[in-house]
Amino acid sequence: MTTRKIASHYLFTGHRLIRNCVVEVAADGSIVSVEQCDRIDSMAGVEFYSGILCPGWVNAHCHLELSYMHGAIAEGTGFAGFAREIGRLRGGYSRQQRLDAAGAADARMWAEGVEAVGDISNDESTTAVKMASKIRYHTFFEAFGLNTAAERIDELAAMADASQPASLTPHSTYSLQDGVFQRLAADGCSPLSIHFMESPDEAALYFGRGSLAEWYSRMGWECDFLHYGSPAERIAECVPSNRSVLLVHDCCVGRLDAEILLSHFSAPLYWVLCPESNRYISHMRPPVEMLRQAGGTICIGTDSLASATTLSMVEQMKQLQEAVPLEELLRWATWNGACALEMQHEIGSIEAGKRPGVVVLESVDLNTMTLTPASSSRRLV
Ligand SMILES: [Zn+2]
Repeated sequence: MTTRKIASHYLFTGHRLIRNCVVEVAADGSIVSVEQCDRIDSMAGVEFYSGILCPGWVNAHCHLELSYMHGAIAEGTGFAGFAREIGRLRGGYSRQQRLDAAGAADARMWAEGVEAVGDISNDESTTAVKMASKIRYHTFFEAFGLNTAAERIDELAAMADASQPASLTPHSTYSLQDGVFQRLAADGCSPLSIHFMESPDEAALYFGRGSLAEWYSRMGWECDFLHYGSPAERIAECVPSNRSVLLVHDCCVGRLDAEILLSHFSAPLYWVLCPESNRYISHMRPPVEMLRQAGGTICIGTDSLASATTLSMVEQMKQLQEAVPLEELLRWATWNGACALEMQHEIGSIEAGKRPGVVVLESVDLNTMTLTPASSSRRLV
């Protein structure tokens, strides 16, 4: 059996940082062994890297199908402005342009070491790209729009059946009427992925205030779900307690919201942070310290190229590292994401028998264990 031996002074296992490791990898990418030993930089037949070896990244929130909008929407539009711009620009590109952009984004993520993606889809335009990709995708077929009809859910269900692993999921607590939201929340056992508290307007809507409420009233759209009282209470009342949920963005989650949700769910609750997208749209930041203290499991996503300059997971970590040690950030970007997508038995940690991918994180300040502006990652396996 031909194997590769890959070594570094630092290895992040998926759980913790350890020193001086040699990882032996089979031709099919599966890990044969992980061993700690001295003098690893001068061993014969060993590839040595001067960075941190990591399992492949898990991007827990992306919209590959919006890659063609890279740079099309200006920074700083704010939340409602961004939603309107997406709606305005969505039809204006050819099928080939969309496919080319999705293919290029997928290839770049793979080269940078992304092993799996939790990908939101509103249609099947990127199914072929994802089927051909070496990245593992869990597709969240997402219902969106206050006028969504029951037939639309059947269409999305057929798409999900055709591209496993997949879930049907509601977009958010502000964009779907009660019947549709309840059906999506209750049907099935695969994880849900819900955009949550990205802006203060989501909670304000329940009191008839803010830019969403103004927009809806200008358009003559009514909401039949405001009696729940808040986005968190709507989720707690509609989603069964044993269903795992990825809550994406979380910029305006308060301590009470977190308590309502964490006391409701017996299944794991994942907070998926996408700091570059929050910066791009509204210069907001998620309440990282509160979420770390509240409980639940934190993951990292990139959101789409419509609201981010890059799909780099390392760039997301750079924006979060002020408050969080690198070892913990690396866990969010690997193991936690793998658990959220229910892929932790195959990826997310470097262990014998798994095929997690092996990535080298370079240009790290190893004395302080912090990322530098030049830090980047590339795939080795
Ligand atoms: Zn999103």
